Amino acid sequence: MKSNYLFLIFFISSAVLFSQTPKCHVQQNNKSQVYDKLRNEHEKQFAEWVQNHKTSTTQASVNIIPVVVHVVWNTPVQNISNAQVISQINILNEDFRKLNADTINTPVGFKSLIGDSKIEFCLAKRDPFGNPTTGITNTQTTEFSFAPLLGDTNIYYTASGGRDAWDTAQYINIWVCNNGGGMATFPGVPRPFTGMQDGVIMDPAMFGNMGSATPPNDLGRLCDHEIGHYFYLLHIFNSSAGCMNDTVADTPPQGVPILGCPVLNAVITDSCSPSAPGVMYCNYMDYTDDACKNMFSKGQCTRMNWCLNTFRSSLLTSQGCLAPLGYDEFIEKNNITVSPNPSNGVFNFSLNLKEEKNIVIDILNVIGERIYSEDFGSKKNGSIRIELSSLKSGIYFANIKTGNNLVTKKLLIQ
Ligand SMILES: [Zn+2]
Repeated sequence: MKSNYLFLIFFISSAVLFSQTPKCHVQQNNKSQVYDKLRNEHEKQFAEWVQNHKTSTTQASVNIIPVVVHVVWNTPVQNISNAQVISQINILNEDFRKLNADTINTPVGFKSLIGDSKIEFCLAKRDPFGNPTTGITNTQTTEFSFAPLLGDTNIYYTASGGRDAWDTAQYINIWVCNNGGGMATFPGVPRPFTGMQDGVIMDPAMFGNMGSATPPNDLGRLCDHEIGHYFYLLHIFNSSAGCMNDTVADTPPQGVPILGCPVLNAVITDSCSPSAPGVMYCNYMDYTDDACKNMFSKGQCTRMNWCLNTFRSSLLTSQGCLAPLGYDEFIEKNNITVSPNPSNGVFNFSLNLKEEKNIVIDILNVIGERIYSEDFGSKKNGSIRIELSSLKSGIYFANIKTGNNLVTKKLLIQ
């Protein structure tokens, strides 16, 4: 029994990729014979799939995949804003659909190879229990950092300072935590704990394009790279000997990763691709800086769709992107925050509404008597300060009318 367990642990580490731009340990981790055999089987299946889809190599319809982002933080800088999370989702939706403006920088020799995966992402609107959600969870932890590359699985479990996954068959789980890089799990490899450890791990310094995102990883391209791995893309280079390719026909063979940011339209050759157009350093699956990556190839898009339609097909029928009843009210409630709460009687109502609405705030006491009311006119963003210091300590309720919606917040005066 013990040896089986060790075997499984070894298997996990085989399935895990870590890329700490410029480090990614997929090649050195996948040396087990068992894993090689499994991979060979998968590659045969991929080759067959490509053969069978030759007449329609482009995916016809767009698939929208639900994502949940678990923000797990110890220091305030790790507690990234919802806006930063949304910035990353927007980048994924541009880059996976070839809508990113910087394809203008794709070297001439590769422009015709840029692919549109027809894969889009939504922040989940419905949680695993059918309740409305922002698609973002927020967990404060006592763990200063996580080391998933070294086999540390704490991030995957609430009980060990991380955050339990949402059903990994229904959502892409992305954990954002202090870990120094990015990491993803390959599909199709049996894992223990009913898949609780399936998804992507990202460092807050390399996520989205604002807030804690730091150059040269501040354009969200490492997350493109890791989601690429999640959909079974390999690196376009070979970090061990030889020119082993990534099984995708239209990415040129490449010996080693390209680091930094080559000059515009540079042709970089190596012993694996000795003549122009050289190696595809502008590919998200290389190690170039965010600013110099701008494409998946058409062949990579085919491979991601093979993965989505086989190993990860349960995502295609997930209800996670469908807003359940009460979703609009839920979102409105999340777009209005009150601080400090508890307070000595001075409350700031911070608004971040989707559109301008007339705002009326009533304050009620615990037996429902209205003791304050004010019409603040039409507002979308900004802060409203309400002074209730004359009231005695206790619990009150703020009824915030935003147009036709009503949001209620509990206030505590100490
Ligand atoms: Zn990688």
